[in-house]
Parts: sequence; C-alpha cells; structure tokens
Amino acid sequence: MLFRKEVREVRFLSPLQGFNEVVQRVEFREDPLTGRWSRINLERAKRVRQAMGESPLDLLRESAKGCFFCPENLEDSTPKLPPEFGEERMRRGEATLFPNLFPFAEFHAVVVLSREHLLTVRDFHSRMLEDALRLSFEYFERVKGVEPRAVYAMLNWNHLPSAAASIVHPHFQLLVDRTPTFWLEKVLEGGKRYRRRTGRNFWSDLLREERRRGERWIGEGERIGWLAAFAPQGQNEVWAVFKEASCFGEV
Ligand SMILES: [Zn+2]
Repeated sequence: MLFRKEVREVRFLSPLQGFNEVVQRVEFREDPLTGRWSRINLERAKRVRQAMGESPLDLLRESAKGCFFCPENLEDSTPKLPPEFGEERMRRGEATLFPNLFPFAEFHAVVVLSREHLLTVRDFHSRMLEDALRLSFEYFERVKGVEPRAVYAMLNWNHLPSAAASIVHPHFQLLVDRTPTFWLEKVLEGGKRYRRRTGRNFWSDLLREERRRGERWIGEGERIGWLAAFAPQGQNEVWAVFKEASCFGEV
C-alpha cells in the first residue's frame, strides 16, 4: 500500500524569532484510497486560537431553559414518526428517537442520549452509548423495511457548540438516503477500484499495513481497529475500522 507524501519547505522572516529566517515543513499527503490530498504542518499546533474559547459551563447550563430535548418538553415539542414505523417515538434506556423537525435527508432522525441536559465527555457511560447506538441501528433496520432503496446510512454526533452542535443536550443525527454523500461515494469507488486492481479488501489491507508500521496505530479489539488517518481531513481525526462489518446492518 502506497502512503505517498511530499514535504515542501517554506521560508519567511518570523516576528517570533527576531525577524530571522525560519523554515517550516509542509507535508502534502495523498489518501491511499481516494487520492484526495491533505496538508499537515506540525508547527500549526502552536498557533494562537482566538476563536477557540471554551463555552463556560454556566452559559451551557443556561441553555436548559426551554430545551426541546429535556424530558419535560420532549413529548410536546418533538415530532413523531409516521405510522409505517410502528411507533411514534422509539426508546431504549435513556435514549429517545424521533424525526428531525428540519430534515435534510429522506429519513432524518434525532436520538436524544440522556435525560440530563448537559454532559461533559467524562459523564458518558458505556451503557448510555450502547443504548443510543442500538436504537440507531434499529432505526436503520426499520427504514430498510419502509424504503428498501434507502441503503446509505450515516450517524453523526457533534457534541457541544465547540463541535458545532446547535443544541447542547446530547444527541445523534441519523440520516438515511437512496444516494451516498459525495465523500462516501468517493470511498466506495476507491474500495471497488482497489479490489479490481488487487483482488483484496482495502480496509483489511489498511489494518494489516498500519498495524505493521505502528506510526498511526492506536490499538484494536476483537472487532474494531483504531488508528489515526494518514491524510486526515480534520483535526485529531481518528478512525475506527470494523474488521468484518461493511455496513451498519452487519455491526
Ligand atoms: Zn435539554
């Protein structure tokens, strides 16, 4: 497997070094599956981030007033599923699922994970996540029963405004469509191309290769391998690659 990268040096006179010349290295990396290029400059980790202030917890707590996802409002304020889903809202443990009020997928649901309005990352426990994930997979199954052509499912979780969540109360977004997103389409095409060329599965090969190299390998369990992406599209990007499952229905 080819991990292609080019390192280019950039020179300028830096105010941080008394306007002496400094050299920084920019790595251009090509994603081995899709061919998409990313750029990495390790020095950027040191830059000042004026717009990255953490939202103070008190301000986040304030947002509980009138929150649609809090237990006292959820029943009256959130939409219900149509009759073909068999029940109006799906539940498991603390998790509740209902349609998104402003959908942008053919099937677009929200899963509220907790009764509690504000949870920090440390407050989540495995049971809560398991319930929310199982409920999501159950929704994907039901969508398949309603519209068998809707096979492209996506589970998004943006937690707190620092991750671009507009609502503080912990929730997943589930989207299912007949067509893949632009990026998923590129990933699927790349996988097919790789199989045609080599006769093998890209993801199995990637796990084997990254485990051997160890540079980006984080660890693995029986069913999932964890690694940092070679050509990431975002900050702190970590991949969980299922060893056997190729879609949510097989997880
Ligand atoms: Zn709430």
